[in-house]
Amino acid sequence: MSGPAGEEPSAAAGAAGATGGEPSVMGEPSAAGRFGDFGGRFVPESLVLACEELEEAFRSAWADPEFHRELDDILRDYAGRPTPVTECPRLSERLGIRILLKREDLTHTGSHKINNVMGQALLARRMGKGRLIAETGAGQHGVATATAAAYFGMECVVYMGAVDTERQELNVFRMELLGAEVIPVHSGSRTLKDAVNEALRAWVARVGDSHYCLGSVMGPHPYPWMVRELQRVVGTEARAQCRAILGGADPDWVVACVGGGSNAAGTFSGFVDTDAILVGVEAAGGAAMSHGVPGVVHGMMSYLLQDEVGQINEAHSISAGLDYPGLGPEHAHLSAIGRARYATADDEEVLRAFKLLSETEGIIPALEPAHALAWVVRHAGNEIPLGSTVMITMSGRGDKDVAQVRELLT
Ligand SMILES: *Cc1c(COP(=O)(O)O)cnc(C)c1O
Repeated sequence: MSGPAGEEPSAAAGAAGATGGEPSVMGEPSAAGRFGDFGGRFVPESLVLACEELEEAFRSAWADPEFHRELDDILRDYAGRPTPVTECPRLSERLGIRILLKREDLTHTGSHKINNVMGQALLARRMGKGRLIAETGAGQHGVATATAAAYFGMECVVYMGAVDTERQELNVFRMELLGAEVIPVHSGSRTLKDAVNEALRAWVARVGDSHYCLGSVMGPHPYPWMVRELQRVVGTEARAQCRAILGGADPDWVVACVGGGSNAAGTFSGFVDTDAILVGVEAAGGAAMSHGVPGVVHGMMSYLLQDEVGQINEAHSISAGLDYPGLGPEHAHLSAIGRARYATADDEEVLRAFKLLSETEGIIPALEPAHALAWVVRHAGNEIPLGSTVMITMSGRGDKDVAQVRELLT
């Protein structure tokens, strides 16, 4: 093992619920919820108790084999796990590097988000809570949470910026179809960051019967840790599947797109103790890690898109799912210690990658993971040496994006 991860005992051991001692890379955060300088719990007193109660409940559930058994059954029988790792022979030939895809696009609802929401809903039920609160930007996490609520027979309330409810009418309808109530948020810029604030407020107001099902590896402790653990299944499966395909070897590169960072965190957790180079790819117009500054938002210390007077800037890209103005604190830490690299892809190369994968492999990707592919395409044969093996997490399928891409290409 190379790099700063080398001095750590074992990422896997740290993940299972070790207490005290030095936090391992992608193991548990510190008691204060810190990943190095990042993370923490920057919330008003009224939210501290809710976060503490949630942390305790998750800690106990995650150490309980019965909880894992039940979650694994749900992920297998309802969500469609395990998802395969697919070789891409034609694309590989074109690029001169060997491409493997981890197929989260094949899950029920079509993205990795299902792993997080089914885990949190199961946890909510264990906590005796029958109501889920969620924030959503483009609507994908709202739809996923509404799906989980329907599965568990729970009430579901989704906060969504008023600008987004107009832009994403179809997803509003989907959520309502699934039995959820969608509440448009009219404060601030009336987009995702305001929806998160509103959802946090709504949680405090009804913490007795409600669980806040946060959508990525962000927010106050324990969310970044808990959501990464719920997405760990992506990396754990992929690690074993790659080894089976590669005769016991690991990929040279592991690449995933980063919005808040949950599919990347889940993927990286499976490979952090290998020699693989880990790369997180942000949208050029929403690159909190690449173009942001450290700061506090939504209860965490991380990198943010912020102007000179500390106002959060909005993220803009072709892909609404990557338009979060910050990213998870653990990514800020992985970058700081040099264990993962963060890069960007712009709209134009993303569109080309979207077409390329569709034509060469018969897989229409979501625009989010098309960012990861676009970065790989740009670097194949230069930074990524010819003959390398690259695993990319295909975080979701492209059906939701086809109409938009059609407009952009014609
Ligand atoms: C929501 C979403 C993302 C971005 O979220 P992360 O937390 O960064 O994983 C990426 N890909 C797809 C398909 C999504 O739906």
